[in-house]
Amino acid sequence: MSADDFKMTIERAPDHLLITVVGALNETSVLELPGEVATPIRINGEGITRINSLGVSAWIRFMNSLKTLGVPVGVRMSVAMASQASMISNFVEGASIESFAAPYYCPACENTEEPVFAFNDEVPETRPCSQCKQSMEFDDEIDSFLSFRRAV
Ligand SMILES: [Zn+2]
Repeated sequence: MSADDFKMTIERAPDHLLITVVGALNETSVLELPGEVATPIRINGEGITRINSLGVSAWIRFMNSLKTLGVPVGVRMSVAMASQASMISNFVEGASIESFAAPYYCPACENTEEPVFAFNDEVPETRPCSQCKQSMEFDDEIDSFLSFRRAV
């Protein structure tokens, strides 16, 4: 199994339903409604590595079907998910974004890191590299990357 193999797991806790999705989201990804749900739903998408356009369509259909359950939905987004949410306003429609990962690159040692931020956290343009202690740069256009925060 490679890191890009899509996998969805559902775990029922007393106070929430946890949906974990990992790998590449595309036309082969099977996103299934979890059946009867009476608790809030939390989606952990931190393991989503890549998303193509058919994956975007499948995801939006899935989010719409979750909406019909009438329970709160919270999402934790990987960099790949946050990028889509910035470009596509209804990518996580009906859900609240609990957290998101952001991309940093170190020009000194080429290290990359994807730290996780809470929705309202301040996101710095630079951060110290955990490898070489030099300054890492935000590896995208920071305002456009964060534009999903304006959409909700
Ligand atoms: Zn470094």
